[in-house]
Amino acid sequence: MLIAGLAAIVLVIVGETALFTATNTQNGGTASIVADAKPQVARPPATAPMIIPAPTFSTGATEPVQPPAPAAFDKTARSIDDPTSIWFVVNKTRPIPDAAAYVPPDLVALRGDIPNPNGFPLRQEAADALAVMADAATAEIGQQLVAQSGYRSFGVQTNAYNRYVGQLGTAGAELTSARPGFSEHQTGMGIDILAVGSGCPVDGPCFGDTTAGQWLAANAYRFGFLLRYPADKTAVTGYEYEPWHFRYIGVDLAAEMHTQGVTTLEEFFGLPAAPAYLD
Ligand SMILES: [Zn+2]
Repeated sequence: MLIAGLAAIVLVIVGETALFTATNTQNGGTASIVADAKPQVARPPATAPMIIPAPTFSTGATEPVQPPAPAAFDKTARSIDDPTSIWFVVNKTRPIPDAAAYVPPDLVALRGDIPNPNGFPLRQEAADALAVMADAATAEIGQQLVAQSGYRSFGVQTNAYNRYVGQLGTAGAELTSARPGFSEHQTGMGIDILAVGSGCPVDGPCFGDTTAGQWLAANAYRFGFLLRYPADKTAVTGYEYEPWHFRYIGVDLAAEMHTQGVTTLEEFFGLPAAPAYLD
């Protein structure tokens, strides 16, 4: 009571600065009572800038010096428009800018013990993460991951797309292969993963039913990868279920999406669904 009384006196005497004095007292309850009693003191008209910071003080019923609340995930921390950003979102309505000339900055060969039958590189950060994930797959489920595809240049993607069009027709091709300039593979952060002995092609749902496919679907986020084309999100992504196709987005974003239960970049960043090309 004595302390509360003294605090109240200090408050009346020093006016505006008493708010800060109160928050530094050991007893938060006393602080809030003092603050509540304050309206009887004449004070200058309140302005918005004085009020906005208040929430960091308002609950002060515990520690004398309260650390800031954990910041909400900052969705603007990295660019989703810059193709060199690990958060870059490419889909059927968001092509790679100046795609015919775009080559990622830091392509590297994959670690030598990871089967890579087509020899495609990845960007350094994605390649490093893949190596860690491959080791974890070996340790946790006894499976050897295979990098079936990685970075594909604009020219290589052009050939792949044209090959699918020849086999499936344009409509069929566009459900499984991106037009040149619209492929995650050209970013150097998209990778097609299978496993030794899975017996599955890069096609259809086969790999998703295997031990490795199920482990990847459940665990890839731990290593910064996202199963980019989930079975139930064709209307959002524009692609059929691709249990082999993963996109490196970094552990922070992958873990946040996992925590929130959001499975597509479009939904996480509030982007429009991209079921088809705009033309
Ligand atoms: Zn792919």
